[in-house]
Amino acid sequence: MTPFQFRTVPHIVSAPGAATQLARHAAPALKGARRLLVVTDKGVMGLGLLKGALEGLKADGFQVHVYDKVVADPPESVIQEAVAEGREFGAEAVIGFGGGSPMDTAKVVALLLGSDQPLSDMYGMDRVKGPRLPLILIPTTAGTGSEVTSVAVITTGATSKRGIAAAPLYGDMAVLDADLTLGLPKHITAATGIDAMVHAIEAFTGKRFKNPVSDALALAALKMLHVNLERVCKDGSDREARAGMLLGAMLAGQAFSNSPVGGVHAMAYPLGGMFHVPHGLSNSVVLPPVLRFNASAAENLYAEIAGHIGLQASSAGLIAEMERIADAVGIERRLSQLGISHNDIPAMAEDVAANDRLLPNNPRPMAYGDIVAMYEEIL
Ligand SMILES: [Zn+2]
Repeated sequence: MTPFQFRTVPHIVSAPGAATQLARHAAPALKGARRLLVVTDKGVMGLGLLKGALEGLKADGFQVHVYDKVVADPPESVIQEAVAEGREFGAEAVIGFGGGSPMDTAKVVALLLGSDQPLSDMYGMDRVKGPRLPLILIPTTAGTGSEVTSVAVITTGATSKRGIAAAPLYGDMAVLDADLTLGLPKHITAATGIDAMVHAIEAFTGKRFKNPVSDALALAALKMLHVNLERVCKDGSDREARAGMLLGAMLAGQAFSNSPVGGVHAMAYPLGGMFHVPHGLSNSVVLPPVLRFNASAAENLYAEIAGHIGLQASSAGLIAEMERIADAVGIERRLSQLGISHNDIPAMAEDVAANDRLLPNNPRPMAYGDIVAMYEEIL
């Protein structure tokens, strides 16, 4: 057996209503910290999702400062602003509360508040030195799995997205409270759910770091997500299906944090960076052409996934099912539906071809011409 390593967040709490009892659940992870910086966004605030957690923390005597200006595809300026507010407040711990962007921001903010290393030195694999402040991550969408990954994706410059991947980005605790996801609109539920399936598919077919633990997690995630995705899109108040999606997304997160994503995510990044297409939707749109492209190198693995979730055991079976799901839950399938035209493709393809963090994980090498052809296929 090939040697491997596997890491994840040391403490996971999964319980409906857990966010409202955060003070009790979080005590061990906070390591005595009393001044908490909560990193979130206006969407979370507007839905009132943080209310129960804040009331509970304040009732228990915690001092809390909320930074709620995280935006999708967070730029460095947002991170620096959150760090400045955290420093002024005297934050002793950081809580990331929201979708992938608030959680990713919180990870980097905890690092910058806990050490002197400049942000510009952190990009890439294992460049982060630490230490960081205690860090708790609480997802309000079922998709990114960011609560259990050691990755943060930041928008640098005008449009480019760069990743920081290093063990200190694992939080001290992840809190899964499916009640927080009950109000998610159908389109976001669908897109983030497909993104979670992509995480599991790419982890299972990862070229470099695929291992028996990530494989088991990816297959378990796919079964759970596949069973619950359409169900939760039909009835957003189905608490059991919501819990299944949140758990499935986390299992996929644990898998891809150790066997990182590849070509699908590399192809999705420019859609977010250049056109602000949400992450889940970007991945869903580019998934079918990348699966078709990879099939010659990953047929057996795609067939294994398809068989595991009850489909005809072939890459064709998996691709047809992912396209069927996108249609069934009302997700766009074409770049032109997202405002992207033929003329945009060369710049997008250049961005993908330069992604030396993700492309080496893809089961089949992807050259510039392949990338252009895949974008053209879904124009
Ligand atoms: Zn993703």
